[in-house]
Amino acid sequence: MIRYQTTQSKYDCCGCRACEQICPKQAIEMKTDEEGFLYPHIILGKCINCELCNKVCPIEHPCKPDSHPIQIIAAQHKDLAVLQASSSGGIFSLLAEYVLKHKGVVYGAAFDENMYLRHIRFDDENKLEKLRGSKYIQSDIGKTYLQAKEDLKAGRLVYFTGTPCQIHGLKLFLRKNYDNLFTSDLICHGTPSYKIFAKTLKHIEQERRGKVFSYSFRDKNIGGWSCCSSSSFYKDNKSQKNNYLKYDRNMYAYFQAFIRGHLMRYVCYKCPFCHVHRSGDITLADCWGIYKFKPDFPNITGGVSLILVNTEKGNVVWNNICTDVVQMPIEEKDAVANNANLRRPTPMPSEREHSYVNAFIHYPQFLKRYQPKTKEIIMLYAKYYLRHTPVFYCLYRIVKRICLKK
Ligand SMILES: Cc1cc2nc3c(=O)[nH]c(=O)nc-3n(C[C@H](O)[C@H](O)[C@H](O)COP(=O)(O)OP(=O)(O)OC[C@H]3O[C@@H](n4cnc5c(N)ncnc54)[C@H](O)[C@@H]3O)c2cc1C
Ligand code: SF4
Ligand code: SF4
Ligand code: SF4
Repeated sequence: MIRYQTTQSKYDCCGCRACEQICPKQAIEMKTDEEGFLYPHIILGKCINCELCNKVCPIEHPCKPDSHPIQIIAAQHKDLAVLQASSSGGIFSLLAEYVLKHKGVVYGAAFDENMYLRHIRFDDENKLEKLRGSKYIQSDIGKTYLQAKEDLKAGRLVYFTGTPCQIHGLKLFLRKNYDNLFTSDLICHGTPSYKIFAKTLKHIEQERRGKVFSYSFRDKNIGGWSCCSSSSFYKDNKSQKNNYLKYDRNMYAYFQAFIRGHLMRYVCYKCPFCHVHRSGDITLADCWGIYKFKPDFPNITGGVSLILVNTEKGNVVWNNICTDVVQMPIEEKDAVANNANLRRPTPMPSEREHSYVNAFIHYPQFLKRYQPKTKEIIMLYAKYYLRHTPVFYCLYRIVKRICLKK
C-alpha cells in the first residue's frame, strides 16, 4: 500500500495519480484537501493488497543517482515568434514539432475553457500553442498515463512533458521501457494548488468586472525574459470587449508568493528530484546567469533555455533538432551554481503554514503581504516603457552588459 495511506503525511505524496491509474480494483480515489491539492484515499473494502500502487509511487521510489547528463547546453529557438511566446528559449516547441512531424502524440499542461490546468494529449500542431509557456500551478495528470500507455502499445511515438515527479511517475507506471517514448522534465521550483490560482482569478474578475480567458505567468512583451511579468486577457462583462491586463496587484501577489516559495505543495520542500540525476530524456529549464558565464550568447534578452541531455535517446532527438537552435555548450558547475533547484529543493519558509489560510480567509492580508510597493510599480512601468522605446532599449542593453561584465 502507498506510504501516504499509513502516514497521512503531506510530505509523502506529489499527487501524480500513478497509484490511482495502476490500481486494478479502482480502489483509489483522489480527494482535494483544504488547500486544493489532490491526495489518494484507498477504499479498504475494494483493496486486494496487490502492492501495485506502492511500486509506481515516485516519492517512494525516486530516481537512482546512476545517470548523469551527456551534455549540458544553453539553447534558443531560431524562430523569434515562437521564442517570444515561450517562457525561456522555446525548446519545448521544437521538440514537440519534431514529434508531431513523425506522426507522434504530445502530452503536456494546458488550461481548459474553465482555466483549470490539466495534462492534455494532442497530435495536431494547432494545439501546440496551448502548451507553450510555464504555468506555475500543479497540472492535473488525470488519466493521461493510461492514455499514453495505449498510444505506446499502438506503436505511436509519444512525447510526454511535465514536472520531474510526473515524468518519474509515468515511467514507474509503465513498468517497462518503450523505445517509442520520449520524455522531458523541468528543473522545478515547486507547484502551488489550482485552488489558490482560482482565488487570484476570482479577485481579478471581481475587480475588473470581466471573465479571464487567458493567462501568461511570464509575458515577454512586458518584462522580456524575466520572472515578474504576468499578464492576462479578460472579456469585459458589459462591453464584451477583450482587454489586456498587466501589472495587476493580484497577479503580482500570486507570483511573488510563488517565487518566494510560500505556496508549494508540502512534498516540494523535500523534493527528491532536485539534482542532476534526471528521469526525463531531456531536462528543460531557464539558463539563469548566462550573462555571467556566456556573455557572448546572441540575443540573451530574448530568453535562453538550459538543456540537460540525459539519455542516448535524448541525444538522438537533440541531434535531429539542433540545426534549428542557437546553442553553446556550458559547464555543469555553471548550470548548478545558477539554478538553485538543480541542487536542492525550495526551502520551506515559516510563512508557509499560514499562506493558504491568509489567501483563502484574509485575502486583503495576503494581497498586502505580497503586493508591490509604489517604488516597485514605478520601476516596473519604467522598465516596460524603456523596453518598448527602441533607443532607450539599446542603451539599457549596453549598460546591463557592461555592468554584468564588471
Ligand atoms: C511549476 C514549474 C516550475 C519551474 N521551475 C523552474 C526553476 O526553478 N528553474 C528553471 O530554470 N526552470 C523552471 N521551470 C521551467 C521553465 O519555466 C520553462 O518551463 C522551461 O525552461 C521550458 O521553457 P521553453 O521555453 O522550452 O518552453 P515553454 O513553452 O515555456 O514550456 C512549455 C512546457 O512546459 C510544460 N508545463 C508548463 N506548465 C506546466 C506545469 N504546471 N506542470 C507541468 N508541465 C508544465 C508544458 O507541458 C510544456 O511542455 C519551471 C516550470 C514549471 C512549470
Ligand atoms: S494494494 Fe492493489 S488493490 Fe489495493 S489500492 Fe493498491 S493497487 Fe489498489
Ligand atoms: S503514486 Fe503519486 S499520487 Fe499516489 S501516493 Fe505516490 S505520489 Fe501520491
Ligand atoms: S518540486 Fe518536486 S515534488 Fe514538487 S512538483 Fe516539482 S518535481 Fe514534483
